[in-house]
Amino acid sequence: MRKMNSFRFRLTFAMVALIGLSVLAAGIVMGNTFKQNHINALEASMVREMRIILDGMDWQGSDAGTPFDYYSEQARHLKETTESRVTFIRGDGVVLGDSDHDARTMDNHAERTEIVEAGREGVGRAIRHSDTLDENLLYVAIEAVRGQPDKGYIRLALSLATVEASMSRIWSALVIGLLVLFVVAALVSYRLASGLTRPLEQITAVAKRIKSLDYQARVNVKNHDEIGELGQALNAMAESLQIQMARIHQNENQLESVLDNMINGIVMIDRAGRMVLINRRAEEVLGFHAGEMVGRHYTEAKQQYELTQIIQDGLEHRDHVREEITFYFPEERLLDLNLVPIFEDGSEFGGVLLVLQDVSAIRRLERMRSEFVANVSHELKTPVAAVKGFAETLLSGAVNDPEITKSFLQIIYDESERLNRLIGDILELSKIESRRVPLQFSPIELPSFISKTVEVMTSEAARKHIDLSMRVEPGLFVEADEDRLRQIVMNLLANGISYTPEGGKVSISVQPLVDGRPVSGGDEQDYDYIRISISDTGIGIPKKDLPRIFERFYRVDKARSRSSGGTGLGLSIVKHLVELHHGTISVESSVGIGSTFIIDMPVIQ
Ligand code: ADP
Repeated sequence: MRKMNSFRFRLTFAMVALIGLSVLAAGIVMGNTFKQNHINALEASMVREMRIILDGMDWQGSDAGTPFDYYSEQARHLKETTESRVTFIRGDGVVLGDSDHDARTMDNHAERTEIVEAGREGVGRAIRHSDTLDENLLYVAIEAVRGQPDKGYIRLALSLATVEASMSRIWSALVIGLLVLFVVAALVSYRLASGLTRPLEQITAVAKRIKSLDYQARVNVKNHDEIGELGQALNAMAESLQIQMARIHQNENQLESVLDNMINGIVMIDRAGRMVLINRRAEEVLGFHAGEMVGRHYTEAKQQYELTQIIQDGLEHRDHVREEITFYFPEERLLDLNLVPIFEDGSEFGGVLLVLQDVSAIRRLERMRSEFVANVSHELKTPVAAVKGFAETLLSGAVNDPEITKSFLQIIYDESERLNRLIGDILELSKIESRRVPLQFSPIELPSFISKTVEVMTSEAARKHIDLSMRVEPGLFVEADEDRLRQIVMNLLANGISYTPEGGKVSISVQPLVDGRPVSGGDEQDYDYIRISISDTGIGIPKKDLPRIFERFYRVDKARSRSSGGTGLGLSIVKHLVELHHGTISVESSVGIGSTFIIDMPVIQ
């Protein structure tokens, strides 16, 4: 702004100075011309007066000798009519008479400029300061007799005070006029300069706003001159910048959201080894903070040695590196590292791109699958071996003993039954896991549902003299797949009966949950969850086994489970079914005292 102002002021100053100078020069020329004209006019009239004087008087000149009195008398007399000082001078310069002084005491005037000039050209003039009068006087002299200088001269002297007074009046008018003109010129010039510089200032301001990334700034173009065109060009530039920036922003946002939502971690390292990009997933798996690490050298990141090594290799050899590394920080993970060199413009090495994939889950699943296959084969082998063994024994002669035959056939029957159950459970589990059977949700009235289910189990419980009891709040409902819910409850009741010694107790209760807490006593409150608890007074589960009992084929005591006809898949199936109902299952147990399985399920699916 200051620069612009100074431009405006410079322009104004230049214009004012120019106008001032020309007015001043004109004034000087005019003043001088005026003065000269005035003096010339005075001179002419003085010459005329002197000629008239000479015509009217008896001029004796040099021949007169020194008739001082005559000339002095004449001079004094003439002064009254001419109002000028009158002097008569002899050809040799001796003053014969003077209107103001005594001629006898005066110097010889032969060398006076006006006399010399009059002697030479007929008329002479001079302007001199008179010390006696303390003013400038105009002296004009002519020869008394034309063409004969020795005859003498007549001289008139007139004070220039009136000329000078009118001159000074002219000068002061000129100065005042000049000043007024100056001020007017200054104002006009300033306005003119402003008119010229304001649009420029506006354009500069807009350019500055654009520079500081404000692409909405526009020049208000009014004129259609060159400056207007400049403004239009600037507006067009801002417009295209705005469009381009919007496009860049959009691309950037798209890229950012792609990077941030990628399941793979991405780290970009430039050729100097500085990290230039770290996406959200990479932050998670490497335990970085992008804000802190971007711009830093990769060795500054506290990282596992192998990773640093791989990056170093990649930067040195500019080659593709792929490796699987187990990371222990921020948590244990198996990461698949893919390092690709980046070549900018086709050939120039720009750095490396590190793609990190967390393969822990995939590897774990792979391991689980192969373990499962091994387990299934093992589980299937046992009953098949039993069937085969007993059949062989029968074939090799034992069949002749009806007692043995009967017991062996019973065993073969039991084992094939177990095999059947096992295969049934495996198929069931795989069906549930792959979600091939969609659940059929319907409202279930719990008191009747539980009592019907418990009834199925009573004969089993009675055989072991186990007291089977239920307690369900009346009027409770839940939305569930009835067959699946029955499967859940029966499985847990069967386990309870199975792992409880004779004379023990198994009980089931259902309560409504409000804000995660069980309420009872027929409260009319709105419950959003129900809790099914199945408790027994059985052998219990050791603490170390508790986290694992929901795993497939996991059994605390293999022999005992087998003798009770278990497959080790029941709790796995239960857990899956509960989760399909968006519920949770947990267990509390103490060895020798009993276990309680707790299921919390939402009332509405
Ligand atoms: P199983 O067919 O062997 O019963 P489950 O998957 O139903 O298989 O149970 C897994 C294991 O959990 C059982 O082998 C048993 O050791 C333990 N378990 C399950 N329910 C109970 C219970 N109510 N009391 C004691 N242990 C139990």
